[in-house]
Amino acid sequence: MKKVVKFGGSSLASAEQFEKVGDIIRADESRRYVIPSAPGKRFDGDTKVTDMLYGCYALADEGKKFDAELKAIKERYNEIISGLKLDMTLDPEFEEIEKNFKAKAGRDYAASRGEFLNGKIMAKYLGYTFVDAAEVIKFDENGDFDSEKTNELLGKKLSKLDNAVVPGFYGSMPDSKVKTFSRGGSDITGSIVARAAHVDVYENWTDVSGFLVADPRIIDNPEGIETITYKELRELSYMGAGVLHEDAIFPVRIEGIPINIRNTNKPTDNGTWIVESTCQKSKYTITGIAGKKGFCSITVEKDKMNSEIGFGRRVLNVFEDNGISFEHMPSGIDTLTVFVHQDEFMDKEQRVVSGIHRLTNPDTIEIEADLALIAVVGRGMKSQRGTAGRIFSALAHANVNVKMIDQGSSELNIIIGVSNNDFEVAIKAIYDIFVTAQLA
Ligand code: ASP
Repeated sequence: MKKVVKFGGSSLASAEQFEKVGDIIRADESRRYVIPSAPGKRFDGDTKVTDMLYGCYALADEGKKFDAELKAIKERYNEIISGLKLDMTLDPEFEEIEKNFKAKAGRDYAASRGEFLNGKIMAKYLGYTFVDAAEVIKFDENGDFDSEKTNELLGKKLSKLDNAVVPGFYGSMPDSKVKTFSRGGSDITGSIVARAAHVDVYENWTDVSGFLVADPRIIDNPEGIETITYKELRELSYMGAGVLHEDAIFPVRIEGIPINIRNTNKPTDNGTWIVESTCQKSKYTITGIAGKKGFCSITVEKDKMNSEIGFGRRVLNVFEDNGISFEHMPSGIDTLTVFVHQDEFMDKEQRVVSGIHRLTNPDTIEIEADLALIAVVGRGMKSQRGTAGRIFSALAHANVNVKMIDQGSSELNIIIGVSNNDFEVAIKAIYDIFVTAQLA
């Protein structure tokens, strides 16, 4: 059995947290490849080292003095080193970082040092080999992640190492320049390493015990999700369930490796399993509910639209030309509605309206703002009757007016559009009918 273990910033924010991580790794010898984030927040109001690095580099980039800021970062690491009683110094690394900051090595280089330095400490602490991610995680000349080249290089490297620490978040371009993934990207590194090392499990350790059926800011103490499929997670994560970076499932998906989300502060909790497919039923008909406010709908109406070839394409062309992506497009026989993010659309709305007029000559165009979309997701829906019925009667009882319904043909999710004001009430009503009612 082989596992990749990734630890997030809050799991590595202090020596005390590092010790918990050490205990977790040593408790299971299959935990062979370790991906650390940079030290995160130690307490509410603290600053993540990644943000300190961005701030420090901004000064360097403007040619200003940055000694005090760099010293504060060094102190964060020294506190961990002395707390763990490690016989090591990062003086040479910090000298090099200072030199490279002065030479304007780039914002990505700066941010990546958070993981790089934490990786050095982790390798020393565990007695594992340190592998610089810049040597094995590769981006192409356009800055896009080069998955096949990386898989080959990393696979070769790890096949010779029983244990290793590979810092998260960054890699390098063909000209050796360091490049990072987007924020939270150490999750992606963990997944890439899991694939390259052909492991059995990718454990992602963070500060919560996995995914919850609904947002705890809306539902008091929601139930946890034991098992979720990659596809279900995609449907939920794109609506904003931010425990795991949404790109982190792609590398492991290629090899069908499960991800287990775990809590460093509660290591005995089972967490959530994210899998390709499973015969395990969700505890409830639905696996999760997620949603987002701030959408607009643009409804285009034209008699006999259904027989006009290319109508939909022309409407969508207008959105494309204005650089606006669309979320959903439910349609009727003479109407077609496009849902977009309000903040992307607002400044361009009149251009879109006139663009649709010019290209499609519609009867009317109507815009409605301040809408929320809610995704009710569950692999169990396919084989059960009445799920939609239960959702809509619950919403009706809660006095929520449903403005849009969209069920994907995969029967994995039902998307519901409501007004922003009804968002929380709607989620609560759906949660209660499927979860609270079953618990009672
Ligand atoms: N340290 C980086 C960030 O704060 C990457 C990560 O933690 O995954 O976004």
